[in-house]
Amino acid sequence: MALEIHLVPCLKDNYAYLLHEPASGETAAVDPSEAAPVMKAAAARGWRLTHILNTHHHWDHTGGNLALKDATGASIVGPAPDRDRIPGIDVALDEDDCFRLGDRAALVLFIPGHTRGHIAFHFADDQAVFCGDTLFALGCGRMFEGTAPQMWSSLCKLRALPGPTRVYCGHEYTQANARFALTVDRDNPDLAARALAVDATRAAGRPTVPSTMAEERAANPFLRADQQALADAVGLPGGDPAEVFAAIRQRKDNF
Ligand code: ZN
Ligand code: FE
Repeated sequence: MALEIHLVPCLKDNYAYLLHEPASGETAAVDPSEAAPVMKAAAARGWRLTHILNTHHHWDHTGGNLALKDATGASIVGPAPDRDRIPGIDVALDEDDCFRLGDRAALVLFIPGHTRGHIAFHFADDQAVFCGDTLFALGCGRMFEGTAPQMWSSLCKLRALPGPTRVYCGHEYTQANARFALTVDRDNPDLAARALAVDATRAAGRPTVPSTMAEERAANPFLRADQQALADAVGLPGGDPAEVFAAIRQRKDNF
């Protein structure tokens, strides 16, 4: 049966997610930075945690692993290249591996750049991708352990997913991302409209996540590094997309 997906705010601006497959009752927590809010959200729905999915090793995505495993016996699933850095990992996955939750399946996408082992979980039948800190709504993660060509190719892999795919990222950074995006993509009406919508959503105290991949393709400057407008904006007309991407990323780091 179709996944039920519930967003769980954690820490200051992190999102963990609960995925529940009703037929089997299996329930996964994605990137639990802390255990308490995840336990509380699961208990409120009568869901028992069976799996923990980690997109990458950072503590604000794995901090709740061990406490949740202790409390529930859940199996911890994460990226194979980071198996030494994921607390309590039981199942290590690589590109194109499949993760099953009840009768639903996710394909693992290897998307290094933010960290060298970063993965995403793409539930194609549920039109949902969990992409951690690689792609954000209107932004992308910092390159802590990767190069610009690597990050650009990871973003292109995500960008190729179907337009209706819901993008479940790791943080509520959208409003700040929009402010930056407007400085490098001034004449993009999709971005201008999206920025207004984001302001209204935040003013109402609601999450801006998930967006859709179609929305990100239209307005996220980091997915548009191969567009002339972006190359021109960073002073690299006709430039290689990975170089344009690097220039946009650098500007964001200093924004
Ligand atoms: Zn991270
Ligand atoms: Fe993070």
